[in-house]
Amino acid sequence: MPRRDKRPDRPLHLTAICTVRVLEKLVWASDRPSACSECGQTLQALEDLGGFCALCGQIFCRHHLVIRKGVPNCAACEELRRRKENEGAVSQADVERVVRLIGNDLFQTIGAGHESIAEEAAVRIQLFCDDLESFEQRVVDDVQQSVHDDFVDTSWPACEEHPNHPLWYSDGWWRCELLGRRVAPLGRLRRGAG
Ligand SMILES: [Zn+2]
Ligand SMILES: [Zn+2]
Ligand SMILES: [Zn+2]
Repeated sequence: MPRRDKRPDRPLHLTAICTVRVLEKLVWASDRPSACSECGQTLQALEDLGGFCALCGQIFCRHHLVIRKGVPNCAACEELRRRKENEGAVSQADVERVVRLIGNDLFQTIGAGHESIAEEAAVRIQLFCDDLESFEQRVVDDVQQSVHDDFVDTSWPACEEHPNHPLWYSDGWWRCELLGRRVAPLGRLRRGAG
């Protein structure tokens, strides 16, 4: 397990989840040993591994990857990231609004401690999103996928009429697809209703 003191800016569970994903990729492509794209260090031990840069997708050792708001980037991509964050189609205010709304839905339905999933998704997707309309949808879909994949709650957010299926998000609403019914707008799920 990665140690928390190495990544004070990052919640432990996210580090663990991402490390598992990084390792899966490494194992999958393990015909040759992976090395840090900057310093060339061979990345065999878990504690050497930083992860993949969210922008260029290359792999780096832990010394050559910066993680801000749960999203890693390499030194070469730092300027590009700042530009996308500050001048892109999706503003910081948009990111904060979506994080707050999804964070509220997570908190109301599965409790505290999962808000960082929303932040990581929004901050990462902002870097690749050219229009505000699709941004919200993509972040919600991504958060829902993470909550399912990481077994936090495999039917999140559960439909109150049919607890075994999740609500799906489209056009600004959480919906029960079985009844074709709107349940709640983003950020308005309630415990027992989601
Ligand atoms: Zn390195
Ligand atoms: Zn990079
Ligand atoms: Zn339903």
